[in-house]
Amino acid sequence: MKFAFLTLLSLCLFSTAYAVSQTNFTVGTAAAAPGQKAFGVIEVPARADAGTSIPVAVFHGAKPGPVLALVSGLHGTEYTSIIALEKLIQTLDPAQISGTVVILPLVNIPSFEQKVPHVNPVDKKSMNRYYPGDPNGSQTDRVSWAITKQVVERCDYLIDYHGGDLDENLRPYAYWPKSGNEKQDAITRDMVLAFGLDHIIVWSDRPKDPNASRYLDNTANTRGKPAIAVEAGHSGTVEPEDVQLLVNGSLNVMRYLKMLPGNVVPLQHPVWIGKVDTVESEQPGIFYPLVQRGTYVAQGMTIGYVTDYFGRTVLEAKAPSAGVVLYICAVPSMKKGDTVANIGEITTNP
Ligand SMILES: [Zn+2]
Repeated sequence: MKFAFLTLLSLCLFSTAYAVSQTNFTVGTAAAAPGQKAFGVIEVPARADAGTSIPVAVFHGAKPGPVLALVSGLHGTEYTSIIALEKLIQTLDPAQISGTVVILPLVNIPSFEQKVPHVNPVDKKSMNRYYPGDPNGSQTDRVSWAITKQVVERCDYLIDYHGGDLDENLRPYAYWPKSGNEKQDAITRDMVLAFGLDHIIVWSDRPKDPNASRYLDNTANTRGKPAIAVEAGHSGTVEPEDVQLLVNGSLNVMRYLKMLPGNVVPLQHPVWIGKVDTVESEQPGIFYPLVQRGTYVAQGMTIGYVTDYFGRTVLEAKAPSAGVVLYICAVPSMKKGDTVANIGEITTNP
C-alpha cells in the first residue's frame, strides 16, 4: 500500500513536472513553446502621457532549468549594452538551453530614438531609479511596474546591462550587490565572477525594502532573486571588444547556472572597488579631461579642468582619493553640478 501510494505520488509529481516543461512560456505577446523562441512586446498603456511597447524575446529551452532575465537599454543611449543583447538574441539556440531566457534588449525607446542620455525624454526620469514602479504614474513609473510584474516576478536570476552614456568615457566594470543575506550574496558573487569583468564595485548600501527598491537589479535582489548589473561601452561608441565582453559574460553566467553546457573559469583576482567617489563641477563651462578612463590616479591629482567660454580656467578637478577612473566626462559641455568623473577606491577586503 505504502509502495503503491509512493508510486502514485511520484507518477503525479512526474506528470506535473512533465506538464510544466511542455507549457508555453509567455511574456507580453511573446509565447514560446519548449525548444522554441518567440518575439513580442510588453504593452504599457497610455495614461496621462503616451504608452509604449517594450520588445521582448523569450528563449524557452527544450530542457527544464531556471528563468534568467537579461535587460538592457533602461538608458537608451548606452548603445554597447543594447547591441550586446541584440547579438545574444541572434545567437542563442533554445534547443541548447536548459531553462528559459527572457531578453529585453531596449526598454527606453524614446531615449534611443531621440538620442537623449540618462533619462526618458517623455517624463524626464531616469529609468533605473523608480522601481518597483507605479501602474498609475508617468511612463517611467508604468514601464518599471510592468517590468517588475512581468519580468522580475517571473524570473529566478537577472542581469541589468549598462555602459558609458553619450557623455561618459567609461571603463568596463560590474556591480556586486552585497545585501547581507549570505546565501544570496554567495550566488551574486559567483555570478559576477563568472561574468568576468575584472573591476567589480561592491555595492552594499542599497535599499532593503522591496517596495522602495529604486534600481532594477535591486528590485530582483530584494525579492530573493539573485541579480547583478554590468557596464561596458563608452561615449556613444559601439566597440566590438566591449560588445564581446558583455556577450561572453552573459554566456558564462548561463554556464554557471547550468543553462548552457560547458565550464566557467571564474575570475580569480578581480580589482574590488569598495567605494566610489563622484567628482562634481562647481562651475559651468568647457571641460578638458587630463586622464583617461581606467587610469589609476593618486589623491589630489588634477584629472581635468573647466574653463569659461574665453578659455580662462575656472576650476581644476582633483581626485579626492587614490583609485581608478571608472569614467570621466567625455564631452566639453559642463554645467554646475555635472559629474566630472567617478573614482573607484580599491579594497582588498570585499
Ligand atoms: Zn545606465
